[in-house]
Amino acid sequence: MASAGPSGHQQTDCISHGIRVHPETRCPDRAFSMLSVEKEFKKTKKIKSIGPGVPITSDNVRIVCISDTHSRTNRLDVPAGDVLIHAGDFTFHGGMGEVQAFANFLATQPHKHKVVIAGNHELSFGYCDGFCDIRTFKRLLGSTGVDSMKQKMQELNINHPRELLPKDVVYLNNSAATVCGLKMWGSPWSPYFHGWAYNAQRGKEILKIWDGIPSNTDVVITHTPPVGVGDQISSGDRVGCVELYTTLKERVRPQLHVFGHIHEGYGLYTDGTTLYANASTCNINYKPINNPICIDLPLPEGFSKEDVRVEAGMSNHEVSREFLQQQSNVSQSGGCAGCFQWRL
Ligand code: 5GP
Ligand code: MN
Ligand code: MN
Repeated sequence: MASAGPSGHQQTDCISHGIRVHPETRCPDRAFSMLSVEKEFKKTKKIKSIGPGVPITSDNVRIVCISDTHSRTNRLDVPAGDVLIHAGDFTFHGGMGEVQAFANFLATQPHKHKVVIAGNHELSFGYCDGFCDIRTFKRLLGSTGVDSMKQKMQELNINHPRELLPKDVVYLNNSAATVCGLKMWGSPWSPYFHGWAYNAQRGKEILKIWDGIPSNTDVVITHTPPVGVGDQISSGDRVGCVELYTTLKERVRPQLHVFGHIHEGYGLYTDGTTLYANASTCNINYKPINNPICIDLPLPEGFSKEDVRVEAGMSNHEVSREFLQQQSNVSQSGGCAGCFQWRL
């Protein structure tokens, strides 16, 4: 059944895992005003990260969160911890030199476990997975960009740039891992914005991705914020993902959600159930000025801090290739920030 929201957008009703697509999903700022009538939502408040001087105890897992480092890790001072999480956009364009530099940075970090997802800037990752429009690639890197990337991969004898990351890195791509007994799930996808890597339509298309989050997940890692938390751009508009918000609030209710992408939204927030960390290291001018965010979660009973198990994930072929086709037909409309109309 199709319904038109007050903005006039056509939105097909879609219920998945009990989650319904919000009628204003394509205008997250408006969806936020509608959702904010829920008293639970109003409880979300900003809190302080654990200071690096606070000792790490044996019964807690210290999680250190960074994101959106955009190849600016040279002078980044990362506090000690058990797990280092990077929530995507570690490069500008995903070039092999940039990925190698990030790999070298990771290799020097002392954390027992390193968990990484890609973001919309990791064009080479998106391209190799089939989720970066070739026209976007050419627009951003020039017509020779794709050829030179392929040539570099050949020289390095790799089929995918993630092979450059250190072997012990837990790389999540719509997949799960249990780290220090904590169930983690990560995804590089974000709502469509200028057609970079892993861009999906707001609404039912992106909800399909979030449907893959197991309901018992402790730590969700996505590149995009949910709507309403750490997702405000400088105009004041909110551009986070409405369906991610609903999925986390109504179904998954994780202990921790780590993300980045909206650099202006950096900070740690809580609604009393979930800690939300927008760990963007870079500010809106791509200057790496924000400190890593540190969080302690209780070590689940029966697990040791050494434990790590990577689960088989949703393959890229299960993430519908229709997305890319639809992105080729997309046209941006005016209206509020983050508002797009799609021609399917
Ligand atoms: P990045 O290019 O690193 O992915 O994002 C950098 C900045 O672009 C963000 O801090 C934010 O200002 C802007 N941006 C990213 N995604 C969106 C979006 O969906 N809507 C709007 N209006 N701005 C966005
Ligand atoms: Mn970024
Ligand atoms: Mn981004």
